[in-house]
Amino acid sequence: MNQSSSQKALRDTQAERRESGLTINKARKVFTSAEGTQVRAVDDVSLAIPQGEFFILLGPSGCGKTTLLRSIAGLETLDAGEIYLGDTRIDGLAPYRRPVNTVFQSYALFPHMTIAQNIAFGLQMEKQSKATIAKTVGDMLDLVHLSEIGGRKPNQLSGGQQQRVALARALAKSPQVLLLDESLSALDFKLRRQMQVELKRIQRETGITFVFVTHDQEEALSMGDHIAVFSEGKPKQIGTPQEIYDTPANRFVADFIGDINFLDATKVNGNCVEVQGVTFPVSQDVTNRSDGAALCVAVRPERIGLTSADSDGLLGTITALTFMGADIRCEVTLRDHTALQVRVSPPFDTNVLRPGGTVSIAIHADHMRVVEQ
Ligand code: ADP
Ligand code: MG
Repeated sequence: MNQSSSQKALRDTQAERRESGLTINKARKVFTSAEGTQVRAVDDVSLAIPQGEFFILLGPSGCGKTTLLRSIAGLETLDAGEIYLGDTRIDGLAPYRRPVNTVFQSYALFPHMTIAQNIAFGLQMEKQSKATIAKTVGDMLDLVHLSEIGGRKPNQLSGGQQQRVALARALAKSPQVLLLDESLSALDFKLRRQMQVELKRIQRETGITFVFVTHDQEEALSMGDHIAVFSEGKPKQIGTPQEIYDTPANRFVADFIGDINFLDATKVNGNCVEVQGVTFPVSQDVTNRSDGAALCVAVRPERIGLTSADSDGLLGTITALTFMGADIRCEVTLRDHTALQVRVSPPFDTNVLRPGGTVSIAIHADHMRVVEQ
C-alpha cells in the first residue's frame, strides 16, 4: 500500500470517532510525599484540547505534566474533576477502555520480537484478524518510514528508529488521542530536531490529537498548535506559540519562554507607563490600572532599540557587547543599575554600539508588555 492510501485509511478509521476534543474539567490530583506533606500535582486544571491538534504541556520539572498525562491515560486516578473525550466521560474507565495511547520516554520495545511483531503485538491482544493486523502493520511502517526494516530486531535500530517504532506501535490501535511524555528527550540534539519535524508530519497526516509533554520551551514553540504553560500544577497561560511569546500573561510565562527583561514601571495618565521618569506609551489596554500603580513591564531583548543618547530618553550605558554574527548582544545598564539584555540586528551603527557608550532606549508601544506578577 502506498503512502497516501495508508494515510487515508488511517484517517477514515479515525474520522467517525473524532467529532470533538479532549476536555479536562477541574482535575485535581494530590500526592502525599514521604515526609507527609501534600503536593497538589494537578491543581484544579481545566483545559480544552481541540480535536486534531498538536497540543503541548510545557513547564519545569515537577509542575505536574506527567501526572496530568497519566490521569488522561488512566494510570492515575483523579481526586476530583472530570475528563471527557467528545461527550464521553472517560476518567472512570479502565486504561485499556480509553481510546488513548501513550508513548513514553523509554521505548520499552520487546527485544526478542521484530519491529513488525512489536507493532502487531497490541493488535493480536485485541484478537484482530491476521489480515487486518498485517495491513495495519504495513500502514504503520509506511507512516514512520520504516517499511524496509520491519524484519529487524530493536537492537539493530538507532535510537531515532526505535522511537519511530514506539510511535508506530502506539498509533497502530488508532487511538483518538496520543499522549507523548518527553518522548524525544533521550535523543541527541540533531536527531531530536529531525524527530520533531517527523512527529509534526505524522500528526498532520493522521489527524490524531497529540498531547505532547516537554520542559523544553524551544521544542514547544516550534511544534505546538497551542501550548499550555504549567507551573505548580496549574496552567499559567494557554495560547498559540506566538501569543505565548509575544503576549505573556504573567511574569512566570514571560520568564520561562525565551529571554526577557523586566522593568519596574508606574502607571501614568493615559495608556502609558513611566520608567525612571520617562514616559512610554503602551498598546496593551492598561486603563484598568489606577494612576500611580506599580507595574512590571516585560520586554524581549530583540524588541529594544538603541539610539544615540537623547537627554529626554531613557538612558543607559553599554556595559557589555558581544558580536554573534547574525546579531550583537549588548548589556545596557540603566541609571538605577537595572541591566537590560538587548539584541541588535544589522545594520549595526558602530557610532552607537560602543562599549562604555551612552545610549537611549527605544521600545515600541506594542512591545511593552505589562505582566501580572
Ligand atoms: P513533571 O512531569 O512536570 O516533572 P510530575 O507530574 O512527575 O511532574 O510530578 C508533579 C509533582 O507530584 C512533583 O512534586 C512530584 O514529586 C509529585 N509526585 C508525582 N508522582 C508522585 C507519587 N507517585 N507520589 C508522590 N508524589 C508524586
Ligand atoms: Mg514528567
